[in-house]
Amino acid sequence: MLNETNTLEEKIPAPARLFGASLPELVQLMERFGQPVYRARQIYEAIYNQRLYSLDEITTLPAALREALKAAGHAVGIPEIVQTARSVDGTERYLVRMADGETVETVWMPGGDGGERGDGTQAAEEEEHPTHDDDDYKRATICISSQVGCAVNCQFCLTAKLGIRRNLTPGEIAGQVAAVLNRQNVEVGRDRINLVFMGMGEPFLNYAGFMAAVGLLTAAMRIPESRMTVSTSGILPGILDFAKETVRPKLAVSLNASNDVVRESIMPITRKWNIGALLEAIATVPLRPRERVTFEYVMLGGINDQVEHANELIALLKNMQAKINLIVWNSGPDMPFHEPAPQDVAAFQKRLRDAGIPAFIRRPRGRDIYAACGQLKRTLEQPVPLVAIAPAATLPG
Ligand code: SAH
Ligand code: SF4
Repeated sequence: MLNETNTLEEKIPAPARLFGASLPELVQLMERFGQPVYRARQIYEAIYNQRLYSLDEITTLPAALREALKAAGHAVGIPEIVQTARSVDGTERYLVRMADGETVETVWMPGGDGGERGDGTQAAEEEEHPTHDDDDYKRATICISSQVGCAVNCQFCLTAKLGIRRNLTPGEIAGQVAAVLNRQNVEVGRDRINLVFMGMGEPFLNYAGFMAAVGLLTAAMRIPESRMTVSTSGILPGILDFAKETVRPKLAVSLNASNDVVRESIMPITRKWNIGALLEAIATVPLRPRERVTFEYVMLGGINDQVEHANELIALLKNMQAKINLIVWNSGPDMPFHEPAPQDVAAFQKRLRDAGIPAFIRRPRGRDIYAACGQLKRTLEQPVPLVAIAPAATLPG
């Protein structure tokens, strides 16, 4: 799949890459090349809707303009999938490489992971009541990374072990989606694709990059924001900014504990913003009709999975339009946690439901290939060579 053009693109600095540019930026670029405004629209359409990989493929542009753009060092620059792993459950995990060689992981989950259940949206409705004509279109969730690594240091998460390397740019965030849509031959508009910003990184610590990516995904790639969910570990200033956005994904917050003592022991960020402050900030986000805020709750055996914790949680959330996604902890090497007992998970869920709080157990996807929540860690640590993509079936899990 790699050819000379791709190799060349590697050497082109980020600003020369067109994928990631807004329409006004493309208009400016065309002005510099003495071109009319409609040329910018043609590029916009070609890179975001047709998702073409190279300038040569944009045949709506005159050949001379394509050559001039290339000569000036421009390229489309959709990030490249350099390695794939496929789970027995159909989930695929991709290692996606950026122009500077940094890599992140992106996950394709056919049929989704049930994360939308009960959040009051159409995506939830489709999940709960699939129609008989489901075969006519694809239904899937793509899990996107927002940073290379993560600075937040949650004790149960493998991404934390990487530390933070850098923020992803808007083009790199939306580009993961373009790369996966191309690989899966998705037709936006026909296929039902949900996006979750739940891969590597903390989206609200890359707030501007994340929101600009949402702008590209909605306006340019035509994926409605009602099909997107962003998950934050609880970055307060980010939540307060998010509350003011007009076009925004649904909100999910990784609560993971029912009191500050437990939360601080597994999420040190609690020292900066405690649960009370967090819930106050969340309450400022205006919800759409029927919308609920999702609280994620990773269940760690013996730590936060007892009925007394469920009772505390009920008290915390009693005045909120909330739903809870229970996530059974996905193991990682050398981590001091263990999975909760299945009967404890069931009792926890029942207690919440009995108290009137919608609670769902998230389906773990792709555990065998380390693609499940909290398992993304750039499986390939050494530099990715510029050679052919390894076949999915032979990759280590
Ligand atoms: N950084 C953001 C989004 C990515 S993590 C956040 O933390 O919200 C997505 C979800 O996976 C979070 O709810 C997180 O609590 C959860 N998670 C992290 N590590 C996990 C693990 N090992 N097992 C199960 N869930 C995990
Ligand atoms: Fe970062 Fe989220 Fe992992 Fe915490 S759970 S370390 S915020 S990716």
